[in-house]
Amino acid sequence: MVLNLELLKKIAETPGISGREEQVRALMVEELRTLTDEVNVDPLGNVIALKRGKSDRRVMLAAHMDEIGFMVKHIDKQGFIRMQPVGGFDPRVLFAQRVFVHGSAGERLRGVLMPSSKPIHLMGGEKPAPPTLDDLFVDLGLPQEQVWAKVDIGDMITMDRTLESVGNMIVSKSMDDRVSLFVMLEALRALQHHEVTIFAVATVQEEVGLRGAATAAYHIDPDISVALDITLANDIPGGADQDAVTRLGEGTAIKVFDSSHIANYKLVRHFRDLAKQHHIPHQLEVLPRGGTDAGAMQRARAGSPAITLSTPTRYVHTVNEMLHQADLEAGITLLARYLEDAHNGDYSL
Ligand SMILES: [Zn+2]
Repeated sequence: MVLNLELLKKIAETPGISGREEQVRALMVEELRTLTDEVNVDPLGNVIALKRGKSDRRVMLAAHMDEIGFMVKHIDKQGFIRMQPVGGFDPRVLFAQRVFVHGSAGERLRGVLMPSSKPIHLMGGEKPAPPTLDDLFVDLGLPQEQVWAKVDIGDMITMDRTLESVGNMIVSKSMDDRVSLFVMLEALRALQHHEVTIFAVATVQEEVGLRGAATAAYHIDPDISVALDITLANDIPGGADQDAVTRLGEGTAIKVFDSSHIANYKLVRHFRDLAKQHHIPHQLEVLPRGGTDAGAMQRARAGSPAITLSTPTRYVHTVNEMLHQADLEAGITLLARYLEDAHNGDYSL
């Protein structure tokens, strides 16, 4: 399989925090139109694409469009910007990063993210305390009047990072969860024959509490729910073996447990059997803390059997989210093979 890294780069680099997914949404509407029978946008902003099948059995796929980022909270007298976090960045990884402030007038302004602490040159023997989010501000390098003219309270702030190849890996901002939008598109492209009715959903506001998936699942009322997301690969120095969760290069991850849902065990078996049958590299995943859209889908209406297919990722929720190309290929292939066989699954408990 040759991965269309150009498409992945485009999806990853498009800015869109929770509630401001409009640019990613436009891209997903355009891509899904070529792969499905009908594409709609619901009132919350989810993109719901329908691919008809011979059977009424409804399989809902969900990958979230929002990335973690910030909103402008306050602009001070000198034009420095204070931020409201939207989703969970660790302040330790934000120090001295570059950002984009997406001005309400349509201008994309580059800025630097710095902590309001004494520069190291002015410190005597004091040990610098790690910055908190409240210490951080954005410097746009502009006088206050110009900042006020271009930027409003609530404007989106995203990280200024591009997608690049590093060894056998790909590194980018917002692989969480743009890589899964890519997996969803490529699996639909790789699909040969299927019987089930497929709803491919690009959801909104996952990072602030699985909000888009909740309303989309209520509307669709799926018989089977499959979330697509990244998961931790803590296979790095300092990490204990038992805490690795997943390892890069060892295949796509079939989720068994996280703190938002327990996967239907028969669905786990079905995915695993298909992976074995088609020789697709895979690993089973238990994530002690964290969640995916499956947590909301599983509990919509009267509930549905749910699972998450995860892409193992190092350095999650930093600007250097790293994943292995082979794991990505495995995820695309397994999802396609599952959709072709989903009509055969019996997940009754
Ligand atoms: Zn995610």
